Amino acid sequence: MTLYNETVHDLHEKLTKKEISSVELTEKVFDRIDKVEDSVKAYITLDKEGALKKAREVDQKIAAGEAIKPLTGIPGAIKDNISLKGMRLTCASKILENFQPVYDAHVIENLRKDDTVFIGKTNMDEFAMGSTTETSYFKATSNPWDLTRVPGGSSGGSAAAIAAGEAIWSLGSDTGGSIRQPASFNGCVGIKPTYGRVSRYGCIAFASSLDQIGPITKDVTDAAIVLNTICGVDAHDSTSANVPVPDFTKALKQDVKDMVIGLPKEFFGKGTDPKVAEQIKLTAKKYEELGAKVVEVSLPHTEYAVITYYIIAPAEASANLGRFDGVRYGFRDLSAKSAPEMMAATRTEGFGEEVRRRIMLGTYVLSSGYYDAYYNKAMQVRTLIRQDYQKAFETCDLLLTPTSPVVAYSLDAKMDPLTVYMLDVTTIPVNMAGLPGMSIPCGFVDGMPVGAQLIGKPLGEETLLRAAYTFEQATEFHKAVAPLGGKK
Ligand code: GLN
Repeated sequence: MTLYNETVHDLHEKLTKKEISSVELTEKVFDRIDKVEDSVKAYITLDKEGALKKAREVDQKIAAGEAIKPLTGIPGAIKDNISLKGMRLTCASKILENFQPVYDAHVIENLRKDDTVFIGKTNMDEFAMGSTTETSYFKATSNPWDLTRVPGGSSGGSAAAIAAGEAIWSLGSDTGGSIRQPASFNGCVGIKPTYGRVSRYGCIAFASSLDQIGPITKDVTDAAIVLNTICGVDAHDSTSANVPVPDFTKALKQDVKDMVIGLPKEFFGKGTDPKVAEQIKLTAKKYEELGAKVVEVSLPHTEYAVITYYIIAPAEASANLGRFDGVRYGFRDLSAKSAPEMMAATRTEGFGEEVRRRIMLGTYVLSSGYYDAYYNKAMQVRTLIRQDYQKAFETCDLLLTPTSPVVAYSLDAKMDPLTVYMLDVTTIPVNMAGLPGMSIPCGFVDGMPVGAQLIGKPLGEETLLRAAYTFEQATEFHKAVAPLGGKK
């Protein structure tokens, strides 16, 4: 049995029926890691011993007849910007290379309650800044669909691990697309929940008004299962929403009859690969066949989303990353003669090029004389973007777009930062408006997976899940398996 290729819900059934044990499953996943990790490079840290210890505990509970939760005993991978006590946390940065976190993130506390098994921490762009996982201090991750291509980012390790069978489920974080875009590049399902649905406590802050943690999984059912466990109000995060958490698996119905799905025309024009656009149009057609009504809508401020994000996110990042000063955490340059010199040297050496670029951008747009011209203006545009969506949702239940304008590109592409930033155009507005967004596999272009993005109303995750599930059950895309090869 190649258990590593199965879903959370299938494995849960096998565990409850005692057809397999958690130890057997965990060993299969680590065998798979031994086999493919050298070529995929999805992980920064692995904890086989800890995982097997937990699996043994779970097996004892099952043997004793205890009821188990859907994620109990099922090995998952955690993005390395989420705090898990007992495993180092690096944010893929030299500055935190040897940092041991002293508490669990809220999502980890929730997962521990369900006795899940943690495999390790996944590779990412440094401090989640990037779209390819290449800005990691440690290594670049490869895409299991074609090892010569990027896995996307910044949660590239979490998505590649799922596609390669190196984890059954995983967590990512999404500030401007970092769950959805890698999910789409790797043929996975990914959800960025509504801002506030999931506590950010213990997720190293990048841009606090945009960050959300969410699942990356093999199918829609698994995404609902992980979401069930990680959502919920938390006193440690004042922006976490004090709203009831439904059982998201109840939303998994095959029914989109009378659902109104909007296709925003701005997402299909210049900059979008026509072959990708074609796959999304076919997805819309499928939805029509399944009983939904598809209409064209307009989100007129879309063209300003990227430039305003690249003001707001660096501004927040420059403040959030101020704490990495060589005094309290991680790496410290020991050659300096004074405290200010030490801080400057530590930060210059400890942060990579992209992170330094963001900090400089952020401090610039927040400095007096420029604040009104850049930061304030960007905040005003952010309101306009949010209003575009409010208006679209007066007539639509959800919106359908490409998750990314392109499929995964070559690791050798060496694009300039601005070109890479522009490719975030499809995902960024969703964070700016605080809405839930989801990517589901919907086709292939040049042998690489294409993701369809579903965007919902605030707290509208159930509608997204229902629509995603209906499409998934009517198609075979989610069943395709990454070949782990490379183009010749
Ligand atoms: N690619 C975007 C950036 O570089 C988004 C990153 C993210 O969502 N963490 O900022």
